[in-house]
Amino acid sequence: MARYVGPVCRLCRREEQKLFLKGDKCFTPKCPVENRNRPPGMHTNMRRRISDYGLRLREKQKARRMYGIFERQFRKYFTLATSRPGVTGTTLLQLLETRLDNVVYRLGFASSRAAARQIVRHGHFAVNGRKCDIPSALVGEGDVLGVLAKSRNNEYFKTAAERLSSVAVPAWLSLDQEKLEGKILSLPTRQEIDADLNEQLIVEYYSRR
Ligand code: SF4
Repeated sequence: MARYVGPVCRLCRREEQKLFLKGDKCFTPKCPVENRNRPPGMHTNMRRRISDYGLRLREKQKARRMYGIFERQFRKYFTLATSRPGVTGTTLLQLLETRLDNVVYRLGFASSRAAARQIVRHGHFAVNGRKCDIPSALVGEGDVLGVLAKSRNNEYFKTAAERLSSVAVPAWLSLDQEKLEGKILSLPTRQEIDADLNEQLIVEYYSRR
């Protein structure tokens, strides 16, 4: 399963905004976007007019980077979104939000999606009682995910209580801190998805001829 292993903060600088890819560091003054918010490279002081195509491309790249997904898989989500009823942009975001690694992140088990992806990959989670170590697995309304019994003694989860209590869990999820369990109450509405994205531009990017 491929994942990006290059410099992470560079991705935020390229998009000229915080994508919150590094967990706790993102909330400190050490964040490079706070210090020098310009794209990486030698000649980035020169302002260029961005084309309509460039605008849509950047929005798509931003979403991909935010959720840590490569192009091929992202395009698959878009194709799946177009095949479902409803507003394509919102459906696309719902698909991204209901990935197992994202739900683990939203519930507060990890400080970033990358960290969530790692703990899922290491086999610490179960969905509806069955072990699941696939970060891209899609969960749905009514599904319950929790930390496996054997993993509760792991030092990481022993100290998870503090993190869990400090995270604001979105309204479409519920969390039982004692049981280390979360439930998907419903699919998120657009208002419930905390992502600074213009999904319509992404739809337009993939719909171009
Ligand atoms: Fe992005 Fe976080 Fe790095 Fe800041 S610290 S540039 S928000 S990944």
